[in-house]
Parts: sequence; structure tokens; C-alpha cells
Amino acid sequence: MEEKVNAAAEAPEKKLNFLEEIIEKDLAEGKFKSIITRFPPEPNGYLHLGHAKSLCINFGLAQKYGGKTNLRYDDTNPTKEDTEYVDAIKDDIRWLGFQWAEERYASDYFDQLYEWAEMMIERGQAYVDDQTLEQIREGRGTIDKPGTDSPWRNRSVEENLRLFREMKAGKYADGEKVLRAKIDMAHPNMMFRDPILYRIKHAHHHRTGDKWCIYPMYDYTHGQCDSIEHITHSICTLEFDVHRPLYDWFIQTLGIYPSHQYEFARLNLTYTLMSKRKLLELVQKGFVSGWDDPRMPTLCGVRRRGYTPEALKAFCEKIGVSKRDQLMDIGLLEWCVRQDLNERSNRYMVVSDDPIKITLTNWEPGKVEWFDAPLNPAAPDGAKRRVPFTGELLIDRADFMEDAPKKYFRLKPDGEVRLKYTFIIKCNEVIKDADGKVVELKCTYDPDTHPQSGQWRSVKGTIHWVSTAYMKEIECRIYDRLFTEADMGNIPEDRDYKEFLNPDSLVVKTGYAEPALLEDKHDLAVQFERVGYFFRDPDSTPEKLVMNKTTGLKDSFKL
Ligand code: ATP
Ligand code: MG
Repeated sequence: MEEKVNAAAEAPEKKLNFLEEIIEKDLAEGKFKSIITRFPPEPNGYLHLGHAKSLCINFGLAQKYGGKTNLRYDDTNPTKEDTEYVDAIKDDIRWLGFQWAEERYASDYFDQLYEWAEMMIERGQAYVDDQTLEQIREGRGTIDKPGTDSPWRNRSVEENLRLFREMKAGKYADGEKVLRAKIDMAHPNMMFRDPILYRIKHAHHHRTGDKWCIYPMYDYTHGQCDSIEHITHSICTLEFDVHRPLYDWFIQTLGIYPSHQYEFARLNLTYTLMSKRKLLELVQKGFVSGWDDPRMPTLCGVRRRGYTPEALKAFCEKIGVSKRDQLMDIGLLEWCVRQDLNERSNRYMVVSDDPIKITLTNWEPGKVEWFDAPLNPAAPDGAKRRVPFTGELLIDRADFMEDAPKKYFRLKPDGEVRLKYTFIIKCNEVIKDADGKVVELKCTYDPDTHPQSGQWRSVKGTIHWVSTAYMKEIECRIYDRLFTEADMGNIPEDRDYKEFLNPDSLVVKTGYAEPALLEDKHDLAVQFERVGYFFRDPDSTPEKLVMNKTTGLKDSFKL
């Protein structure tokens, strides 16, 4: 799958996606002077990678065609919503680099929606139903079997108006009555079998307070809100295609601005779940440290991990807009992150937990030499960092092998290797502890191989290192996939998704860093040379730097 996506992305001229085709046609026909899209989150959780796709589509189309995008909170569910989420959603959208034209709330339109409901009652298009939700569900029938009329379906307009006003005034308890549209209980589209317009909910709303105790349903709200804002292209995910006829029906019935709905395939990623309900459960039950745990697929989670807005946008561009649901390889997202960080991130040397000590027997005791190393080899400014070199150093245990095969080019007994940015050294003696574990390598350096003043001599291996006199101990949080199963959307029905949590998704290790790392104040992940990308965590203190592993370089090195 990855290959296919890459090939498409590299095609010289990108084909228009189906939404761009629709918009170009609409504009060419003069249907609209400019387009307006909207992003409609329900403030009941934090945004995730799926929302990033929706954001890129909605804001991307408006940018491309000189239109605008509204941010509209779909806040019709007072018991699940919270201002914490409202604020976090705005932070995440800004972080991605998008700016909405208007900030709106479905609740801004509660008065208008209520007026329209009374209008529908007056026209005989809506009625108050006393049935329980259970009875209503049963009465809807099935796809093959028509529904049955509610016994309350033929109430008079006057009675319906009185009851609806009493519902609004708080006379009834939750669930006692609902307002339904009067359409057709035998309609082949089940959505049309007298859908519920309003339910009673005595709940405090984060914006309207206690003004309302009846709240409009999604289908009765969404299209009308689009219409009020003159949204030209209301873009949502495929599961809403069955709602579209009803969306159109309300707009036609009320005779209001004709917004149109278009559906695209939602983003599914391997080893990832993106349902807010499940993410909330992971947070509430402590399986992760919070919404912004770096293992979470939330935007605040991947941001804390070191993913960049540029990488996410590049990923959304690559996966494109399709009309068919598909499972995307999370490896492609990681690839986009690596591409971006490879170009922009600063480099540092950090030696992993359980290192091996190198003693240079011919280095003058106490001498320090500072070497220049590029901060980022790709940066045009050629900025440098200074790396201290002394007679006692650490290297990764993985960079030494005692009984090495011929093709092993890192350090081995009597073998040579270049210590990155400095000299070639030779391993003369291997020192072990009582258990036979290698603890120290006595080496000599070759002064003629100084990168500036020496003669050029090539050696096959180059490894990273730190000076024990200058290194800083840091905490490295190494992340793996949160789930063990690739297709989390299709786990067996009798299994709970939490059974697939990866017990090793977080491993904490010590690292030994060159001192310049601690001076890096960029708000961007850095590369630990030969190891991977790491991003400073807010848990860092002046005493201890905490770094989150963003992603590896390839797959061959592990810290
Ligand atoms: P969830 O199922 O994760 O709770 P949702 O659809 O309920 O998500 P909303 O806040 O209602 O979340 O979504 C806001 C917008 O983001 C909607 O237009 C929705 O279609 C879109 N969206 C949500 N999940 C995805 C996804 N995985 N891929 C693409 N778009 C998505
Ligand atoms: Mg939703």
C-alpha cells in the first residue's frame, strides 16, 4: 500500500481529487463567487489524526480556491461537552497552521432552530410523541419491514404546539416526550421514518447555561447550521452519506440556503484507534498519561512526541481524498515525519543506556579538545555546535563486538573506527568484569587523523560517542505502537480493544548526551545521530532533560 501511495504522490501532475472537481465545476458554472467550508467538531474530546485529515481538506480547499472556512462546534450534547475541549480544539487547529474565518457554535442557532420547529408543527410537519425511545426504535421497523405509526402521530397542531412549548418550559422529565418530523413511517430510507428533532435533557450547557432543557438532534441541526452560514460545500466522512437525503429534506422543507453535503473516506491508520469515546476511556482508566500522552493519536499527543504540522500536512496530501474506506499504513506517516525532521532538525550525539567506556591510553591526561560539528548538515547557514573530546569516552554497546564477523565495521579487538567528527581510534585491549561483561576498551587515537589538520585516511566505520567529563545524563522515553494489532477497526467482536494494548509501548531509558543538546531551545525535534529523532518533553526540569522518541532513523537502530 505504501508503495502505491508514494508512486501516486510523485506523479508529475497531480490529478484533481473528486472534491476539487466538484468545486471547480461549481465555480466555472458560476454557482458561487467563492466557497465556504466548515470544520464541525463536537467538543467532547481532543482532535486526532483523523480530524487532521478533515482539517486539511476543509481548510486546504478554501485556501486553494480563495474561500474561507468556519470553525463550528457541534455542541448539541450538553452532558458530554466541555470548554476544556473547546479551547484544546482551537489550540490544535492553530498549531496545524490554519485560521478559521468565524468561530461559531450550533448553540448560537438554538433560537432559530426552535422557531423552525414551531413552524414545522404549524404546517403539520412535526408532532410531539409520548413514546419511549425503546418504543420509537421498535416502531421504526427494519429495512425490509415498514415502521408503524406512533399513536400520537395525529395530534392536532394546537396540541403539538402546546406540548412542545411545555417541553421547552421544563414541564416534562428527560425521555418523557420528543418532537418528531412527520414524514413517512414506510419510507425506504429509514432516516425518513419520522426522525426525532428534539429530545428533553435537563442538563447545563457549557454556553447556553440553563436556558434550554430541550436540545436539537444532529440531523435537525447540522444542515440548518450550514445553511445559516451559507456553507457551499459541507464536507464530512462517508458514514454520513445515509444522512444526506435528510440533510437536503430539511433545507428544502424550510426553504433556506441550499448548502450541499459531500462525503469522503475517513482516515484509518494501522495500530491506531481514533474513536474519541475509546481515547477518552484510555485516558480515564489510566492506560495512558492523558490526552497528550505521546503514544496517543491525538494532535496534542503527536505534537508532544515531536511530529510537526508540516509532516502531518504532507501526509494528508499524500493519502489524498478518496471515496472508499481504507486502512493506511502508519509507516507512511512516520516516513513523512522523518522526511521533514531530516531536513530541519539539529543533530547531537547521545549514547544509549548500558554504554562501554573507552580509555585513550595515548591522550594527554586532562586535555580537552573542542571539535566543530554541523548542527544540521542540510542547513544553508552552516551553523555549528562545539563537541568536547577527552581521554575517557562512552560509546554504544551495540558499536562494539568481540567476535566480530569480517564485515563488521564498527569497533572490534585490534580494529579501527572513526569517532564521529574526530580521530580514528584503535582498540588494543578489552577489559571485562567478573561476569565476563565488557566494561572498558583501552584504545589509542591516531593524531594524524585529525579532521582539520591530519592526513586523510579512510576507515569503514564511524560511530558516535560522548566525553564522560562533559556528558549530561538524560531520560529517554522510547515509544512503540500503542496497540499490537494492525487493523484495530476489525478485531473479533467478542474481544475488547483494550486486550490489544501493547505492554511495551513505553520504555524509559537513560541516555548520555553531548552538552550542546542542553542548549538547544528550538521548538523542533532533534536527531540523536545514528539513533533517531527525539523531542524535549514538558516534564523536563533544569536538572533532568526528558526526551520523547519521535521516530527512528530507519528500523535498524534501537536506543
Ligand atoms: P470520533 O468518531 O472520533 O468521535 P467524530 O466524527 O465524532 O469522531 P467530530 O468531532 O464529530 O468527531 O468530527 C469533526 C469532523 O471531523 C467531522 O466532519 C468528521 O467527519 C471528521 N472526522 C472525524 N474522524 C475522522 C477521521 N478518522 N478521518 C477523517 N475525518 C474525520
Ligand atoms: Mg461526531
